[in-house]
Amino acid sequence: MKQIALYGKGGIGKSTTSANLSAALSGMGLDILQIGCDPKRDSTRMLMHGQFIPTVMDLVRVRGEAPITLSEVEFTGFNGVRCVEAGGPEPGVGCAGRGIIATFQLLEKFGALKGDVIVYDVLGDVVCGGFAMPMREGYAQDVYLVTSGELMSLYAANNICKAIQRLSSRTKSTCRLAGVICNAKNQPNEEELVAEFAKRVNSSLIQFIPRDRVVQLAELNRKTVIEYEPASAQAECYRTLGKRVMENTHFTIPTPLEIDELESLAYSYI
Ligand code: SF4
Repeated sequence: MKQIALYGKGGIGKSTTSANLSAALSGMGLDILQIGCDPKRDSTRMLMHGQFIPTVMDLVRVRGEAPITLSEVEFTGFNGVRCVEAGGPEPGVGCAGRGIIATFQLLEKFGALKGDVIVYDVLGDVVCGGFAMPMREGYAQDVYLVTSGELMSLYAANNICKAIQRLSSRTKSTCRLAGVICNAKNQPNEEELVAEFAKRVNSSLIQFIPRDRVVQLAELNRKTVIEYEPASAQAECYRTLGKRVMENTHFTIPTPLEIDELESLAYSYI
């Protein structure tokens, strides 16, 4: 079983990428579980045709110690992808990982942490003390950074590299950087910049995802691109990402950049 996690700045397109990746992997006949960790609970929404599923944290808050069943937290979405939302605290309040840990413990108790691939879609730019939890506890083994060529998302990606580097020295943790995904924002020289960033942090650009209107159209129709427009170039791009993720054997301990170095790298690609 592969346990992969997509990390990156809020708003960079992690949920869109995760949902389309899960949809693409399910199209390869694989059994997929996607877990979102975000109070917005929108990681799995397109797989669920627009439905916001209840979060584990909300249920725990309402129920307290009363038993929760698997069918209350795990829902079946497009092409059999199993969907779970960990949820989180009220906006502005960090949960220090309680949401995601409660979710893991519950799913473990039900024997639901299974399948061919578990895709974790994790908020990565919050200083919540919890975003590193899936890595620290050994749940997120292959970490993919989702970034664009914008400086703020490169900052977030670089910070996640620091977390992976720190955690990889602990014996319990098996997390490694598995690659960088460029979710393009139509910046000049964006692919080259992100490829160079990936190289400098001791990794590689695993997939360039161009900006395409079909992504917005699919979302307005409450579907992943894979489901909405399976013959599109964008759908093919997500399928290629799926194949590369499955075939990937290049896992590294990242070498994060100093801020000055990161800024001059970005500057050199303007
Ligand atoms: S673990 Fe962090 S990112 Fe996840 S819900 Fe809690 S505060 Fe948010």
